Amino acid sequence: ANTPMTITVTGAGGQIGYALLFRIASGAMLGIGTPVRLRLLEIPAGLNAAEGTALELQDCAFPTLASIDVTTDVSAGFEGTNIALLVGARPRGPGMERGDLLQANRAIFAPQGAAINAGAADDVKVLVVGNPANTNALIASAHAPDVPAERFTAMTRLDHNRALAQLAMTLRVPVSAISNVTVWGNHSATQAPDIAHGIVTDSRGVPQALPEALAGVLGGPGAVAEWLGGTFIPRVAKRGAEIIEVRGSSSAASAAAAAVDHMHDWVLGTGSSWTSVARVSDGSYGVEAGLISSFPVRSNNQAWEIEQGLEVSPAVRARIDRSVQELRDERDMVRSLGLV
Ligand code: NDP
Repeated sequence: ANTPMTITVTGAGGQIGYALLFRIASGAMLGIGTPVRLRLLEIPAGLNAAEGTALELQDCAFPTLASIDVTTDVSAGFEGTNIALLVGARPRGPGMERGDLLQANRAIFAPQGAAINAGAADDVKVLVVGNPANTNALIASAHAPDVPAERFTAMTRLDHNRALAQLAMTLRVPVSAISNVTVWGNHSATQAPDIAHGIVTDSRGVPQALPEALAGVLGGPGAVAEWLGGTFIPRVAKRGAEIIEVRGSSSAASAAAAAVDHMHDWVLGTGSSWTSVARVSDGSYGVEAGLISSFPVRSNNQAWEIEQGLEVSPAVRARIDRSVQELRDERDMVRSLGLV
């Protein structure tokens, strides 16, 4: 067997935690050949729920699960960790301003960043799921000066997967037939889903440009433009609200599945298509360096590399600029509050 990996999950007693931990423990994230040591971090209010989850994890008798520890101690939670999934966050309460929300999340993500800096393994990889995820990742990264900034990522894989699912249903093809779709920007309603470089591959292995395939199904390029702006983008960007309305509570299993996909691909590689990850910008595509924004990326040797040289259409460019402006506003707010 491979060397065991230590995986820390914060907010382990919550909804997403409940959907996430069993999949990690079963080997879905790192493969069944890699034993996992789970570290469940909670605040006192969530401790009982996390402990109950730990009991159920024992009862699954997963061959890949080497150990489980539950703690409320941030330092102990990140000691020696290889993979940190930061799920627990402060949800926006009624009447809460964005500044209050960022302030509350600073109290969570700054100490976690510092604990990762002090105690995590040298190869630590961090995924922030708790919202506002991009800016929470920025706060954690700012408090971990010894960890390379590109190891702090925020999750846009759920948005990416939602886009794939909508495209597959519209084209009546399997999800696996679709590649090279991108979600740019912030994990928020301003995100910029982009299908311009997408490819759909038929059962014989013949590739077709996604816009062309959509034109065939929808009735021409004009109909595609209309569908993208009027149906596809709003559906993907507002899917979270749709789930809440239909299910009666927020999406959890799909968020957990996306977190599993994100870490799986980061560690084991992306394969033939790129995917979407919010990582620190190096200035690519005109996104201000230092912001944590979503890009088309491939994982090479366990590092997310931004796919270069893609042409960006004016409509997508305008959406990216708006979303990046939102990230800049959030960054400026945490700066003015002295949080980074
Ligand atoms: P969930 O497990 O449902 O959600 C956790 C976080 O994930 C929220 O910030 C949520 O954002 C975010 N999120 C990101 N993407 C999605 C998505 N697609 N769908 C739904 N949520 C998404 O929250 P619970 O309240 O059930 O559980 C949170 C747990 O975290 C609690 O047990 C609490 O005790 C714990 N906690 C732990 C902390 C720590 O370990 N230090 C700190 C704070 C809380 P959004 O709010 O926008 O839905």
